Amino acid sequence: MRIGIPAETRSGETRVAATPETVKKLAVKHQIVVQAGAGLMASVTDEAYAAAGATIGTAADAFGCDVVLKVRAPNAAERPLMKPDAVLIGMLNPFDTDNIAAMAAARLRAFALEAVPRITRAQSMDVLSSQANIAGYKAVMMAANTYQRFMPMLMTAAGTVKAARVLIMGVGVAGLQAIATAKRLGAVIEASDVRPPVKEQVESLGAKFIDVPYLTDEEKEIAKGSGGYARSMPADWMRRQGELVHERAKLADIIITTALIPGRAAPVLISEETVKAMKPGSVIVDLAVSQGGNCPLSELNKTVTKYGVHIIGEPDLATLVAADASALYARNVLDFLKLVIDKDEQLVIDREDEILKATLVCADGTVLRT
Ligand code: NAD
Repeated sequence: MRIGIPAETRSGETRVAATPETVKKLAVKHQIVVQAGAGLMASVTDEAYAAAGATIGTAADAFGCDVVLKVRAPNAAERPLMKPDAVLIGMLNPFDTDNIAAMAAARLRAFALEAVPRITRAQSMDVLSSQANIAGYKAVMMAANTYQRFMPMLMTAAGTVKAARVLIMGVGVAGLQAIATAKRLGAVIEASDVRPPVKEQVESLGAKFIDVPYLTDEEKEIAKGSGGYARSMPADWMRRQGELVHERAKLADIIITTALIPGRAAPVLISEETVKAMKPGSVIVDLAVSQGGNCPLSELNKTVTKYGVHIIGEPDLATLVAADASALYARNVLDFLKLVIDKDEQLVIDREDEILKATLVCADGTVLRT
């Protein structure tokens, strides 16, 4: 079978869907075609791919394979390069209905990896987790870089410097890594989330959990989320959370927000009033900026200063750690591939498999899941 790895063309995308490590494993049984330069932004040369067993080719060569491995969905110019019934695997954005319709019209068999269910068997294919982990780390690095003071407490001959206070809003994969990273830098950390199990996780990392009690059974039920993801909390709980967060934000030096609700606008957690009340020189990193932001003042692809607070609105922070982000993503993709290639190295798509069913967004010219 021919497996193609095209270069990513979306603006700001630095990652690549296969690395020499994964190519080497695939090249034992398959012909691997890597587009020239596909790995350069992630520090992988064509020579490294060739040494791992790949053939280096053009975009048409890579897109023309039986299976195409991508980070992002192909665009209108790239789709026609693919064969009808070709298998496409990538972060194809299952909520982008227009794009899925276009992929269906091109008769692709497309798998959107963001839709991998959160079950134990699928953990090694969970691209949202592998990339969120990196984003959480990088968010702290960016905040520390913009912040004009030290992160750790220091006792020097010239006096004592206080540790930075970091507030993490939304403690999923990115938030947990942000706590761990900020902790390693010596910050004092507080965190908030809607889901009950998070309290224990936050405390086990040495941070303080901001408790917003559930006052009704409805609040308690919604807070459990569904499928490992948060649901939108009732307005009254959000108001009470906002009040508590407002007080904590006044003391914070750095706020990192990561709260997302799949398929919906991100919840507003840091209001304009709260930003106004923050200390001058403090920093907000809004990881939810591409979903509308957890802070209404954050701007996509920009760092802005409002009321003396620096607000970083960089989406896709994992793209700024391109080499490791690609390495982890490529391993996720390799594990996913094992589900569609049988022991005779043939493509077999079991439509009853829970993971394939959840991720297959179009096949046979039909949109299957949006
Ligand atoms: P996410 O990126 O969808 O959201 C980030 C965090 O924001 C979540 O913790 C969410 O609860 C929180 N949030 C949403 N609304 C909020 C609000 N109003 N206030 C505060 N916080 C809010 O989440 P994620 O990182 O993808 O992970 C969610 C959970 O799923 C985590 O517990 C993670 O460990 C778990 N998970 C399980 C598996 C598995 O079992 N295979 C795999 C990956 C993740």
